[in-house]
Amino acid sequence: MEKESLQEKQATSDRHEEEQTARQRLRAANVKITRPRLLILDLLHELKGHYSADELVELLRERQTSLPRASVYNALDILTRQGLVMLADAGPGRALYEEGNTWHHHFVCLTCGAVIDIPCIKGEKPCLLPDHFSGLVEEAQVIFRGCCETCLAKRR
Ligand SMILES: [Zn+2]
Ligand SMILES: [Zn+2]
Repeated sequence: MEKESLQEKQATSDRHEEEQTARQRLRAANVKITRPRLLILDLLHELKGHYSADELVELLRERQTSLPRASVYNALDILTRQGLVMLADAGPGRALYEEGNTWHHHFVCLTCGAVIDIPCIKGEKPCLLPDHFSGLVEEAQVIFRGCCETCLAKRR
């Protein structure tokens, strides 16, 4: 009995250590492997955080792995639809992309514009349901706004 649970623990930690490469993630999602898709997945994984498509074009250029704007947009579109990339809801006029991971919300700093992940208490969609509504709610997106820690420290 004890031995069994130890083996189970071992297996879990092994799975955790073994990080999937961009190539493996594309394959697992049944998405055709292309250079733009690999580059974008790698970039988002490495940098973390939230970036607009134009920022990604610029970052790729800085790394000498330039891609045409249209390829970046096309790749983001496919990757988002397949759940490998998430469109971070940070308010109107800002389409920001991030690595696809667990469902979460965002805090937007009104002073510097920083976008910070806020874990979702429920961790799955929808995490809020309205009263007195008989339609089908698929997701509820919450945007927190205020002053981030860095800006708050500068104010003091
Ligand atoms: Zn700030
Ligand atoms: Zn996020």
